[in-house]
Amino acid sequence: MAEKTQAELLKEKLFYEPKNAYETLSEEEIQAAEAFCEGYKAFLDEAKMEREAVRFAVRILEEKGFRPHEAGKHYQPGDRVYYNNRGKALCAAVIGTRPLAEGVRILASHIDSPRVDLKPRPLYEEAELGYFKTHYYGGIKKYQWAALPLSLHGVIVLRDGTRVDVTLGDQPDEPVFCITDLLPHLAAEQSKRPLAQGLRGEELNILIGSRPFKDDKASEKVKLAIAKLLFDKYGVTEADFLSAELCGLPAFPARDVGFDRSLIGAYGHDDRVCAYTSLMGALQVENPETTWVVVFADKEEVGSEGNTGLHSSFLKYFIADLARESGVAPRIVLSRSQCLSADVNAAFDPTFADVYEKRNSCFVNYGVVVTKYTGARGKSSTNDASAEFMGKVRSIFDEAGVAWQVGELGKVDAGGGGTVAMYVSALDVDTVDIGVPVLSMHAPFEVVSKLDVYSTYKAFEAFCRAPKK
Ligand code: MN
Ligand code: MN
Repeated sequence: MAEKTQAELLKEKLFYEPKNAYETLSEEEIQAAEAFCEGYKAFLDEAKMEREAVRFAVRILEEKGFRPHEAGKHYQPGDRVYYNNRGKALCAAVIGTRPLAEGVRILASHIDSPRVDLKPRPLYEEAELGYFKTHYYGGIKKYQWAALPLSLHGVIVLRDGTRVDVTLGDQPDEPVFCITDLLPHLAAEQSKRPLAQGLRGEELNILIGSRPFKDDKASEKVKLAIAKLLFDKYGVTEADFLSAELCGLPAFPARDVGFDRSLIGAYGHDDRVCAYTSLMGALQVENPETTWVVVFADKEEVGSEGNTGLHSSFLKYFIADLARESGVAPRIVLSRSQCLSADVNAAFDPTFADVYEKRNSCFVNYGVVVTKYTGARGKSSTNDASAEFMGKVRSIFDEAGVAWQVGELGKVDAGGGGTVAMYVSALDVDTVDIGVPVLSMHAPFEVVSKLDVYSTYKAFEAFCRAPKK
């Protein structure tokens, strides 16, 4: 091989060039990534919405010896606790050997994803077809949700308080549902609509049946027949939808994408990919020096509001309880804590290159992406991590050999978005966003790279394991 020129050597020393993780990771690590992603895909298929993700996590945590947090109990290093917030959000912690007064390390992701929720009075019949009315949840491109098999997920709470869990449409022998779209032959007017109105909110009606109840006199016989099926299967009547949370989700399972199977396509990588990797990464650190706290939040896709979203106080209360129980003022613990706000970022998509600024975008296969700030219109509504904290995170990842990159969310003024980072940093916690680059974010079928998923898992592990400096 020819010797490197002086300019080449100098460039190596002085320039920063991100690299594709297939060039930097060993063959063993690439194999490990493959194996890790099998577990991730199983999680995606089992836990399609927040309640299911909490159920999954609680099962894993219980298996690993975690127990529900008991108010007032004094916890010792190595103790494992969790707090299940109404079945829709979760905090889990392992108490570290160093005093809580030195702060904790938080990994905060969200487990809700964009979808179509049923309205409180969803059931109706029109032209002898049965439908559910919906109200979409989170930032969707509505046209993407038509002509797609949907499964039905959620809960119905009966008048006597009984909760009926619903999952229907994911198994091959189960029926699915769908939102219909107009045939191109008759879509001349629809095709002139702006993209955002390709399908309008009130056109997101889910087709749920067509067979009428056999009776000569009754009206709404299709609705009646469906109501009877629902009563026979779930014991619910139309009034029970008033106290339900049901949604339509893409009915297909997670799949490998590409001839080389290097990618995973699935519904809701955002942000279950960070939920899974943060929990699995933290669980690798069984006896941490610094207490770690994994948080699964709900409602991020609609602004983190509500008592299961991170704009509420449930994380603060959880840490405050742990603090008081070890005789420390909660604000001392929070002020000295650090958080990786774990959420996805928009991977550079060459088909739509003009919304990205290539030098500051994240790329598929370049590893976990550290996002200093999100926001819109001049960094509005963002956390914007400090140089000091960026420096700490950078050295932790480099020392652990984690493949990582930086990324902005698109070009300046191309749009923007936010994460839970600003709600955690509002608690006076040093916070930065990290996560997995995603293609087709918020679409029914999002795409991530296996190496990026694995690198994110390794990043969370490294953060929980890093010695205090
Ligand atoms: Mn997200
Ligand atoms: Mn999102």
